[in-house]
Amino acid sequence: MNQLRIGDDDHDVGDRGCAACSMPYPLDCECGGLIHGTIDWEHTTVENYTRDLKCDRCHKKGRTTEKKWEPTEEVRRRAEEIAEKLTGKKWDFGVKPEGDKPE
Ligand SMILES: [Zn+2]
Ligand SMILES: [Zn+2]
Repeated sequence: MNQLRIGDDDHDVGDRGCAACSMPYPLDCECGGLIHGTIDWEHTTVENYTRDLKCDRCHKKGRTTEKKWEPTEEVRRRAEEIAEKLTGKKWDFGVKPEGDKPE
């Protein structure tokens, strides 16, 4: 399978279940290809989630910053690890966003 390099990750071209992507990517591009996203951990914070995007067909590039993300446990741990390495501080990304309704 062909690979598409974005940042430090190799994405699988044409694969909707691409393992290098995290939800909600890959997304459909207007060219019929798939837009893959690599999380830019260096610019990802508790409130913002930054990704470098690239289409696997037309190779259109983009960059998004999304607010108020709810990471999976795995993504959260990885984010904490990397944030700790970069800043030398302990991080806790597991704080629930405000407005959560109790069960
Ligand atoms: Zn991907
Ligand atoms: Zn495209």
